Amino acid sequence: MTAPFIPNGAASDVPFVLRVVVQSRLAGSPVDLAHEAEALSSKVNGAIAIDPSKTGLHELCPACHTEVPLEDITQATCPSGHSWARCSVTSFILSTSMVRTCIGCSRKALLPVSQSSAADTNWLPPAARSWIVKELLEAVQRCLFCGNSFVGIV
Ligand SMILES: [Zn+2]
Ligand SMILES: [Zn+2]
Repeated sequence: MTAPFIPNGAASDVPFVLRVVVQSRLAGSPVDLAHEAEALSSKVNGAIAIDPSKTGLHELCPACHTEVPLEDITQATCPSGHSWARCSVTSFILSTSMVRTCIGCSRKALLPVSQSSAADTNWLPPAARSWIVKELLEAVQRCLFCGNSFVGIV
């Protein structure tokens, strides 16, 4: 990583960067990945003033609207016990029908914006409406876990 990773005025992109950092530090993550996350985290913190309320790391349970911390990248469970699958590409809670499913392992992921039938991107979680997330969803053509292709079920 030689070029500055965070361009000026990229505040709307920070939430997803922080998300990657948190994910990379969860238990079970490879040590070198955790170190990369550490370095990325200090770069972001040094470059941009971060408003913790806007990081989007704690999503709201789609059913009862209590906060669900990011503790597991495959599943989200709120304090009341509602359980949700997370997007296998971005880890956002899946509460939309705009999803695709891996034919190999059945993990689900958000649809690329170009493949959604919606007129806007309001179906994406608020913290996912940055170009990084959109580009990532477009770029991922196969399941990151098993390499199979996705099918959309609508
Ligand atoms: Zn809930
Ligand atoms: Zn898969």
